[in-house]
Amino acid sequence: MSDISESQHPVLKVAVNVPLSREFDYLPPSGGPVPAPGCRVLVQFGPRRQVGLVLAHADTSELPRAKLRRCLEVLDDNPLLGDNDLVLLRFTSNYYHHPIGEVVAAALPALLRQGKPLHPVVQTIAVTDPGASTDVEALARKAPRQAELLETVCDAGGGGLEAEQLTELLPNWRRVARSLFENGLIRQLEVRSAEFDETLAPAATPGPELNADQRKALEVLRSDIEVGAFLLEGVTGSGKTEVYLQRMQDIVDQGQQVLVLVPEIGLTPQLVARFRKRLGMEPALLHSGLTDIERLGAWRAARSGAARLVVGTRSAIFTPLKRPGLIVVDEEHDHSFKQQEGLRYSARDLAIVRAKQLGIQVVLGTATPTLEMLHHCRRGAYALIRLPKRAGDARPPSIRLIDTARAPANDGLSEPLVAAIRKHLEAGGQALLFLNRRGFAPTLVCSSCGYVAGCDRCDSRLTVHARQGQLRCHHCGATRPLTDSCGECGATVRPLGEGTERLEDALREHFPERTITRIDSDSTQRKGAMADALDQAREGQAEILVGTQMLSKGHHFPKLSLVGVVNADQGLFGTDFRSSERMAQSIIQVAGRAGRALLAGEVLIQTAFPDHAFWSTLIDGGYERLADDALAERKATHWPPYTRLALLRAAAHQRVDAMRFLEIAQQSLQPHCGETLRVLGPVDAPMARKAGRHRVQLLLQSSDRPTLHTVLRQLRLLLEQHPAARKVRWSIDVDPIELF
Ligand code: ADP
Ligand code: ZN
Repeated sequence: MSDISESQHPVLKVAVNVPLSREFDYLPPSGGPVPAPGCRVLVQFGPRRQVGLVLAHADTSELPRAKLRRCLEVLDDNPLLGDNDLVLLRFTSNYYHHPIGEVVAAALPALLRQGKPLHPVVQTIAVTDPGASTDVEALARKAPRQAELLETVCDAGGGGLEAEQLTELLPNWRRVARSLFENGLIRQLEVRSAEFDETLAPAATPGPELNADQRKALEVLRSDIEVGAFLLEGVTGSGKTEVYLQRMQDIVDQGQQVLVLVPEIGLTPQLVARFRKRLGMEPALLHSGLTDIERLGAWRAARSGAARLVVGTRSAIFTPLKRPGLIVVDEEHDHSFKQQEGLRYSARDLAIVRAKQLGIQVVLGTATPTLEMLHHCRRGAYALIRLPKRAGDARPPSIRLIDTARAPANDGLSEPLVAAIRKHLEAGGQALLFLNRRGFAPTLVCSSCGYVAGCDRCDSRLTVHARQGQLRCHHCGATRPLTDSCGECGATVRPLGEGTERLEDALREHFPERTITRIDSDSTQRKGAMADALDQAREGQAEILVGTQMLSKGHHFPKLSLVGVVNADQGLFGTDFRSSERMAQSIIQVAGRAGRALLAGEVLIQTAFPDHAFWSTLIDGGYERLADDALAERKATHWPPYTRLALLRAAAHQRVDAMRFLEIAQQSLQPHCGETLRVLGPVDAPMARKAGRHRVQLLLQSSDRPTLHTVLRQLRLLLEQHPAARKVRWSIDVDPIELF
């Protein structure tokens, strides 16, 4: 803030959370203060008051000064975001062609977005002296719910419990609290929210001594070679994490901060515990399971530098850091790094951009690099570091196919697979069965008229969820009761195909005496359920694990020796150009769970197409050969990474409205089409109707990134203003990873 006279007041360039690709000009409040870039302001925007972020100061505005409105209020004394952070936000807005105000909103924790102070006061409930000496048992006889609340608050000690935490423990506590307040047994405090405490962690414990490959990898990271991005490609269990940990230690020792990005379900208590234990410091965690207050607390700790280690999922890439020193992206290939709605950004790609802006290293680790990353390494843009062998004594698993044409799979299980499970269990191992389809069966058909239960609002089939007695649409969430008879002809219906529930049932038939745990998004809805299931799996109590790709990521189950891929054929004939890359990644990842410790690992894959070239390539040449082949094919067919894509999507209740909107877009692009730009469509999306809306799309493909971005910029401005936009929902997706 500065003291300057009114006439010298700068024009403030403010980002406001509205779907318009521009900044808005305001003047500081009369009589000051003048908010610096990075401070929030409250502004009148049309009929509403909005929280905005000052991006820059300017001398002039397109509007005459007299017409500019003043900010109503300045919300921060000091900038929340530094210049580097603002540069990243602007880059994100320009690159993804998304309104800056919405980018800012996506980057800030909810409480800050709502205009709350950086250090909000939190409501806390604490026990009073009379409350502490109350006879809880006597109270319990009269008013059991009051007693329960009093006891919970008592257990929290003198500081009390944050109201938000209390709501998690006892959702309806407020109704019960009144008489406890009136009788003076509990009281409400307003306290400044708790500060981050790094010393909560135990002292650091040393890790294993690095093997030769790991040492070499670390040396490369430590030598100051020019490229800033490093792809650490190491087979599963090769000790990538150990390499990051040592590099992180270096950076922390230099007094700088490390930001680690992990996939959504990669942020397991197991990984966090490993960081905490090895580095002896408490990481600030940023993920979707936090309360707003907790999230803000972690954000603040990153910003102030109080946390030297910041670990988070995708949106953590926007977290301000006081002394950034290193960014690590774990499991670079994981799709959860790309946001698929609203601001469609790739946190992995932004990590590379941000590291470059800051002049720091970024290390991207994976066993199955995306073709994009491999391509950049081959061009020399990024450095490739490889860990070709498993660390310690673990051997790579052997992979074998089971031909389901010869050995039919009943309820998902072929005879050879059942025999292998038995063998491994008897040898003291653990088995994991991977099936990327939750529910009981993906389809319900009538045995008489052939009717297939479909969703009324989507072009999709309903999945049978036998446990809940429901049919569910996995695309829009619609549900219907499950019945025994066909709605069309009254004959008996039967579930066709298998999901994880059915597989679980079939396993219980075969192995009634074994402990079987299913892990998918249905079985882990309760908070903490996932962590409990993983603990059981790791400690070996669960003898057979059944699950979707949730189970395939990053987990380390020491006793696991057999992985069965129940149905691998979905990916062989996929329509998306990334189908085979994706399938190879998920098979290698899940296979990598087998034999990570002492027991030798075995991987069995059930397929009806054992002669498909995909399998021989995978088994003989591994991921590397598959990636080589796929890159050659992409080059020949001009798909990414050899060209760049952007997808313009539109959805409307009437197909004609969505189509007309894209036709307008297509016409405006026509003059730019030629050598460097192709426009394909508009066409119906692969799933043309979803949640009652018709979806159409226009694909832009370009061999030249600047050309693509120039046309996208013009396109965005045209479409934002166009009256046809009022009837549709539309979006631009730059570097889409799914073409639907
Ligand atoms: P990745 O991240 O590549 O999957 P991790 O770093 O998790 O691999 O290592 C896999 C397992 O091997 C872990 O249990 C880890 O403790 C162990 N490990 C890693 N490096 C070594 C080493 N140099 N010597 C012995 N064990 C190691
Ligand atoms: Zn639906």
